[in-house]
Amino acid sequence: MHPCDLAPAHIRAIAPYPPGKPISELAREMGLAEADIVKLASNENPLGPSPRARAAMAAGLDEVALYPDGNGFELKFALSNRLGVGIDGIVLGNGSNDVLELAARALLAPGTSAVYSEHAFAVYPLATQAAGARGIAVPARDWGHDLAAMGAAIRDDTRVVFLANPNNPTGTLLESGELHAFLTALPSRVAAVLDEAYGEFLDPARRAPSVDWLAEFPNLILTRTFSKAYGLAGLRVGYALAQPDLADLLNRVRQPFNVNSLALAAAAAALGDEEFLARAKAVNDAGMAQLLDGCRRLGLGHIPSFGNFVCIEVGKDAAATAKIFQALLRKGVIVRPVGNYGLPTYLRVSIGLPEQNTRFLAALGEILERP
Ligand SMILES: *Cc1c(COP(=O)(O)O)cnc(C)c1O
Repeated sequence: MHPCDLAPAHIRAIAPYPPGKPISELAREMGLAEADIVKLASNENPLGPSPRARAAMAAGLDEVALYPDGNGFELKFALSNRLGVGIDGIVLGNGSNDVLELAARALLAPGTSAVYSEHAFAVYPLATQAAGARGIAVPARDWGHDLAAMGAAIRDDTRVVFLANPNNPTGTLLESGELHAFLTALPSRVAAVLDEAYGEFLDPARRAPSVDWLAEFPNLILTRTFSKAYGLAGLRVGYALAQPDLADLLNRVRQPFNVNSLALAAAAAALGDEEFLARAKAVNDAGMAQLLDGCRRLGLGHIPSFGNFVCIEVGKDAAATAKIFQALLRKGVIVRPVGNYGLPTYLRVSIGLPEQNTRFLAALGEILERP
């Protein structure tokens, strides 16, 4: 007998998460220079980190021999001031991926279930499965969450419903009124995890007043991240907001020092950098327009997206799409296949700087012209 054979069946059944290909790996495989590679595969911020985050990290280097503040007071204080929530309603995570897992670990167990949408973020099924619970994937409507169907899919044993708004990889957005009605109708025993990883890219008029909803819904958990608009993906820092008793429950399954000291300092400094956030949104808006214009010229369809990425329909089937993905790699352009999300004819492309978008469109144009 091997330990692997004795691991719980629900753990052995987990399919690994396929991350975007790192630049260094493609450089090794193709013999390309790293500087010649464009990575538009992981929805990272093409501006890099905010200058304030850089300065905070530099100032924090001398302290890395010490354990970080396990309560993350400085960052929680900054979040509390900015968002108008109490410190006891904040849970910090090693990326928001961490807080999604804390929610799953705290609320799910064998014999329970979690509901999420088809084409929704891959971490929801992964975290559900790791907790030994059953995942219920609800068919999408126009690539987005079908809230009526998701409500109808909730069973007596359902403890969590995951909602991504905007969703990754489709970029679809639920309208705020629709979302509020869903939360109102949701049984109070079911926690709603509302993942707003891309919220900063929305026009203010489209943003749901979700922080205000926390007082109204004791079963609501909001999750947000510094990985996308704030440009700190490599540091791994995100957070959840909930009423204090639910936040306390999540904090109990958290590792005591789950967020490192450089990440805490950088996130606290980046939080108030409105200028950087505005620039990130402007670059994203312009880049999205550039990519969509390019798609039109190439005669390619796409899924309308509210995030910093867009799914483009490049192939007639999975094989044709895989060929185009590989051909892009040979030209030093890394994008993301989304066959594992049930979108086998699409590639997800993150919005880059103008010259990176141009490089992607030119490479794709050449490949489509001479397959
Ligand atoms: C990128 C992403 C996250 C979180 O990423 P972290 O780096 O772990 O904070 C969460 N949800 C969605 C939908 C995402 O796309």
